[in-house]
Order: sequence, then structure tokens, then C-alpha cells
Amino acid sequence: MICGFCGHRFDEKEAKQGCGGCPGGCHSIHCPRCNYKNPLEPELLKKIRRIFNKNDADKGDAE
Ligand SMILES: [Zn+2]
Ligand SMILES: [Zn+2]
Repeated sequence: MICGFCGHRFDEKEAKQGCGGCPGGCHSIHCPRCNYKNPLEPELLKKIRRIFNKNDADKGDAE
């Protein structure tokens, strides 16, 4: 991915995740160069959203 702040190109795997310095837990990918908090990749967001949607649907069926 590319850092939205400094434009540095890096692999998600070599970026800092779960830095422990973000309030409420780290859910971002920190740039290894400038430490900017980049939002997670859209693909991952889609996955997460799908999980949440599924849970909502299940809840709706149960009630
Ligand atoms: Zn950066
Ligand atoms: Zn963080």
C-alpha cells in the first residue's frame, strides 16, 4: 500500500499494526517511514463490513 501522508510505498506486513499507542486500540496501518495512521485496505473493510452485515441479518432473523 501507499502511505496517504508521505507517499511511501510499503508492504502491509512490514507496517506497524497494533502499535499500542492509539486510543481504543490500533486499527490502522502505520507507515514505517512517518508513522502516519493509514486506514485499512478497502478489501479488508469489505470483509469486516460483510461480517457485521451478516451478524445484523442473523439478529433480525432471530427476533
Ligand atoms: Zn508515510
Ligand atoms: Zn496505532
